Amino acid sequence: MWRRFGIFTGVCVLSEIVFQFYKYRYNRSITKEKEKSTEVLFFPDKKVACIKHFTSECESENCSYSHEENSLSKLFQYLNKAVHSVDVCVFVLTCTDLADLLIQAAERGVRVRVITDSEQVDIPGSQIWKLRSRGVAVRTDDSSFFMHHKFVVIDNKKLLNGSFNWTRQAITGNQENLLVTSDPRLVHLYKEQFSLLWGKYKAKKDQ
Ligand SMILES: [Zn+2]
Repeated sequence: MWRRFGIFTGVCVLSEIVFQFYKYRYNRSITKEKEKSTEVLFFPDKKVACIKHFTSECESENCSYSHEENSLSKLFQYLNKAVHSVDVCVFVLTCTDLADLLIQAAERGVRVRVITDSEQVDIPGSQIWKLRSRGVAVRTDDSSFFMHHKFVVIDNKKLLNGSFNWTRQAITGNQENLLVTSDPRLVHLYKEQFSLLWGKYKAKKDQ
């Protein structure tokens, strides 16, 4: 009887060890996956990244823009890789390169939607009317308060959120941050907020 009990206990202990080992391996792979899909882009960059170099090919021999990877170049690449949707919620949008990437995405069939602040639409350098004229749907808030978010959800899978307005000053001047994550719970929360605002601001100010 004691022999049987000993065998039984041994099997239990062994199976527990195997279970704990696989649990450890699983948790470690999940953590590594999370680490891989999370980063923070800090600004300012020393130099503006070359949009051509990072999205297609730069043929300029004396290009005055940066071919070194930096925060803006990573943002270029995230937008350039969008396949299904890009939902942008940003207070100020005056950066021509980033606006051009949204237009290019729309032209390759990506659903691009932009929400911005109504009082920023007509400021000097605003890209909003260019976006609208090139087929990008834009909606604005309808109050005297600011639509102050600065986030973008790409393909409903990736969230970029932080202090970063889409302006030249934010790229090379200001201290800014942009957290990049694929955490499904966070992506879902921002996606829901985007949908809520998109519905709230309706199409009355659409083109
Ligand atoms: Zn270049």
